[in-house]
Amino acid sequence: MSDEKIRMTTPLVEMDGDEMTRIMWKMIKDELILPFVDLKTEYYDLSLPERERTKDKVTLDSAYAAKKYHVAVKCATITPNKQRVGEYDLSEMWKSPNGTIRSVLDGTVFRTPIIIDAIKPAVRSWKKPITVARHAFGDVYKATEMRVSGKGTAKLMFIAENGEEKTETVCDFEDGGVLQAQFNKDKSIISFARSCFDYALATSQDLWFSTKDTISKKYDQTFKLIFEELYEKEYKPRFDKKGITYFYTLIDDAVARVIRSEGGFIWALKNYDGDVMSDMISTAFGSLAMMTSVLVSPDGNYEYEAAHGTVTRHYYRWLKGEQTSTNPMATIFAWTGALRKRGELDGLTDLCAFADRLEKACFDTLNEGIMTGDLASLAQCETKRVNTEEFLKAVRERIE
Ligand code: NAP
Ligand code: MG
Repeated sequence: MSDEKIRMTTPLVEMDGDEMTRIMWKMIKDELILPFVDLKTEYYDLSLPERERTKDKVTLDSAYAAKKYHVAVKCATITPNKQRVGEYDLSEMWKSPNGTIRSVLDGTVFRTPIIIDAIKPAVRSWKKPITVARHAFGDVYKATEMRVSGKGTAKLMFIAENGEEKTETVCDFEDGGVLQAQFNKDKSIISFARSCFDYALATSQDLWFSTKDTISKKYDQTFKLIFEELYEKEYKPRFDKKGITYFYTLIDDAVARVIRSEGGFIWALKNYDGDVMSDMISTAFGSLAMMTSVLVSPDGNYEYEAAHGTVTRHYYRWLKGEQTSTNPMATIFAWTGALRKRGELDGLTDLCAFADRLEKACFDTLNEGIMTGDLASLAQCETKRVNTEEFLKAVRERIE
């Protein structure tokens, strides 16, 4: 290795976080990045104490920085609940940072498993990763619900700005029941579609999209038509040139095809379907600790993170002075994803090559059976179970 560190020209937006992932964040930087890269970042501390101190302004500032610089890397953060309000003596139950960032950047969350030889997916035919692209806006997550009792009629009504009304009868209830009204916006669906098409082009993978449009003849149909129209109008020639395809199918059919497939494609899903299917896909591939996640916005901003949380249980053990075997893979890959994207945007081939080298060093380490506890318990080979620091040291030896 030469003493010359790899140069950067534009800063990465660095969003630090909480608990065990915050501990790993520093270890990863010290052990695997700073010795090799002349790292430039604009640093935002999104830890809960700092969000409290700044009345959550820091989260908003970091999101705008991501919009300005286009590439961010984020550590997992606590989304406060009642128990956290007490634990951290919060003046307010601050919103989920991911939600705040998403509302500024807009876009779609892409989750991809990191796969290794030693861990066989639960589905035998899967050879390549399957990326789930989840629309992260509206539907059941913003629905209005009502429980009704007794006889009565439920109606769905829209009042236009000019006073015109549109009404549909939902149900004539004989007795009690439940109601739900969902919505989505064309603008958000178009953003979702664009993010998916762009990501397919950027990663040279086929794009699948599935809904239940045979039953939902207006709602899901709208999604289907928006995707179709945008594809035909704008994306088809670029897909053809890359030799990749866009493919729409009913969600039932998609589920069957996904299970029979070899993997290696992007599966776009509406909000709820994406929530459920991404958990199914990540579990079937092995471990949550091996799932990467990137938020891609329609105007070309990228925010990389691990799919898992702050690993609280390990953190409490670490506070007691115990060694923990927390898996840093997804967090390392958030860094490599962000560095590679920065390199691509700035034309820094050395930086892209470093990201490749660091990922390869991780795979080499794992392929030699050196792994953290979560993987060691799943692996179908002889393993050496190590703690987080030992794992990072082993990776570093392999980069050097
Ligand atoms: P979690 O942090 O993902 O951890 C759940 C369990 O999964 C852990 O206890 C651990 O199991 C295993 N695990 C997850 N990541 C691992 C890793 N890297 N290495 C080894 N094992 C790993 O989820 P949670 O406990 O539900 O949430 C903790 C906090 O994270 C919450 O405050 C939540 O708000 C936050 N969160 C943040 C994000 C984000 O920032 N994107 C996402 C989700 C949750 P064992 O204990 O059995 O070893
Ligand atoms: Mg879920």
